[in-house]
Amino acid sequence: MADPQTLPEGRVDLHTHSRCSDGSLTPGELVAAAAARQVGLLALTDHDTLAGLAEAQAACERQGIRFVPGVELSCRWRDSEIHVLGLAIDPTSAALQALCAAQHRRRCTRVAAMGERLSALGLPGAALSERALCAGVPTRAHLAEALHALGLAASAQQGFERYLAAGRDAYVACDWPALTSIVSLVVHAGGLPVLAHPHRYGLGMRPLSELAAEFRQAGGAGVETSVAGMGPADAAQAARLARRFGLAGSMGSDFHQPGIPWRPLGRLVKLPEAVTSITARLAEAHGLGSGASRGGAADR
Ligand code: AMP
Ligand code: MN
Ligand code: MN
Ligand code: MN
Repeated sequence: MADPQTLPEGRVDLHTHSRCSDGSLTPGELVAAAAARQVGLLALTDHDTLAGLAEAQAACERQGIRFVPGVELSCRWRDSEIHVLGLAIDPTSAALQALCAAQHRRRCTRVAAMGERLSALGLPGAALSERALCAGVPTRAHLAEALHALGLAASAQQGFERYLAAGRDAYVACDWPALTSIVSLVVHAGGLPVLAHPHRYGLGMRPLSELAAEFRQAGGAGVETSVAGMGPADAAQAARLARRFGLAGSMGSDFHQPGIPWRPLGRLVKLPEAVTSITARLAEAHGLGSGASRGGAADR
């Protein structure tokens, strides 16, 4: 059996974040960390921004890493907040740039509203939201960091879970665009839409299947079948979605910061039976990625 690391793709990571959204590394530092992990194909997929792509692209060129310009877009499907990756998008797409600007306005409004909720709970909400609003893309992760930085939570994680997670006292829903419009926009910008981390939406198989069907119908190309932190049952469910709806499998870490042992940069190209790799789609359409397109003995 071939050593998976000798496959043309080597290690692949199609889902990462930098400081341009809620990651801790600059795009250049992220690429250096990916190079140290022998990642051969890397996408930067910051939340609702294209700001880090030029720096990451240049750093990848220097390191000999194939680069996929990407983005992770927040959208709404029924009552759920869903994340769609746009892989190999055109960063100069005016429609995508306009969407990111609109997402930024939505995020600012939401973070300010969450600051008011925090104030109502007796916390310094204005100071907390002000800190979060300094970020290029203000997220709940920044509010969680602010709670920790001001000594109001033992860790950002604890602050998030106590106040900011869906259903908690300071949670405010965001007026995200509909899933189908986001998928169309990614396609319009030349990209491949990938349904991110399907196991994290708290949806059972039936609604998840309905989501995947609508996603595919709207132009969806892939689903994450291998994400760091995904257990065997979740992976099996994602693989079923991929097969049933003809979606390619995508792989990534959802890396935000170093030092999380179960979320290192880079995944080996590992595909469930009878699932096509999104890297094959990237190779076909964009000349990125290459080689093994199907799960088989050699590449599992
Ligand atoms: P937002 O996009 O503003 O809703 O913020 C969501 C971000 O918070 C995600 O992209 C994650 O990076 C982070 N996050 C989500 N869930 C948690 C959690 N349970 N604990 C800590 N951070 C989280
Ligand atoms: Mn994030
Ligand atoms: Mn996500
Ligand atoms: Mn992500």
